[in-house]
Amino acid sequence: MKRAFNFNAGPATLPFAVLEKAKEAWLDFNGTGMALMELSHRSKDYEIVHNKAIASLRNILSIPDDYEVLFLQGGASLQFSMIPMNLLKPDQTANYILTGSWSDKALKEAKKVGSTHVAASTKETGYHRIPELEEINLSEDAAYLHLTSNNTIFGTQWHQYPNTQVPLIADMSSDILSRPFQIEQFDLIYAGAQKNLGPSGVTVVIIRKELIQSQPALPTMLNYETFAKNNSLYNTPPTLAIYLLSLVLEWVEENGGIEAISKRNEEKSSLLYNMIDNSNGFYIGHADEKSRSHMNVTFNLKSEELSTKFLEEAKQIGFVGLNGHRSVGGCRASIYNAVPLEHVEALVSFMKNFKEKY
Ligand code: PMP
Repeated sequence: MKRAFNFNAGPATLPFAVLEKAKEAWLDFNGTGMALMELSHRSKDYEIVHNKAIASLRNILSIPDDYEVLFLQGGASLQFSMIPMNLLKPDQTANYILTGSWSDKALKEAKKVGSTHVAASTKETGYHRIPELEEINLSEDAAYLHLTSNNTIFGTQWHQYPNTQVPLIADMSSDILSRPFQIEQFDLIYAGAQKNLGPSGVTVVIIRKELIQSQPALPTMLNYETFAKNNSLYNTPPTLAIYLLSLVLEWVEENGGIEAISKRNEEKSSLLYNMIDNSNGFYIGHADEKSRSHMNVTFNLKSEELSTKFLEEAKQIGFVGLNGHRSVGGCRASIYNAVPLEHVEALVSFMKNFKEKY
């Protein structure tokens, strides 16, 4: 079977080994005579899968005991609302750093809940970069500072995080597990699974326990405490998505953990950025060099006409997902953990041939 050269931004390519392993469990999970998704979420067999996923994530990210690992639904987008609903008090202000469309959306939802403040923004210059740490300006009575660690649409990524006196929150949807980071620097991290963690359907939230509070006025399903008190089994969780997540985490562990994966990711992104930098302006990177993402490489060609031709020819050869986000256009190669080095090499080779041809 020939695998597609899949550069989709999410849902994205999954490790082939994971897909193969899932196949084994598809019809008869662990000799139960039932598929995984036919098991009760209260059964022993499912409970083992659920707890293994939590334990693997704790192990891979070295998550200390004073943090909860929660599995939620509603995508990363629901976190845009749940965060202020749970953490923003009436006399406080929620602080946001704007580095792209997803942080804009997070701010928009927080505004519906309470007072907000933009602590830094690179919107005026087209989100080409991440702000310098000195540009961050917190409001008084800040409830928290929210940032987006990797900007999936613009192809920028934080390479040094701010040290703050207030809780630091990160949307890590498009770069979690791609590189090492100190979990203790953050108070809440969240990520939709469909890029580096697994299929869509489950959202991972890692939250410092002391931030979880009883909130009787909140709808039960929007309260972190509900999930924390019930090991994310208050209601029916997305069992199949969590099973696949557990297999992806196993794959990360078997492939040397985050350190090794991070090295491979750097190698992959360097191939593409070198191609762009050495193309004499034929390919034009969107992100400033210092802010470049190792996960989403965004670029344009000299003219829109040429970009269109590039995307058409790439598609014909079998490259999938190279179109930039519909809101910005251009080209984007999403090279998450599971994208093999050989697929990036194939893309670079195509880019080289295309440049020579035109
Ligand atoms: N944040 C970031 C950084 C994203 O890339 C995305 C999705 N591409 C989202 C949030 C929204 O995620 P979801 O579709 O899971 O709500």
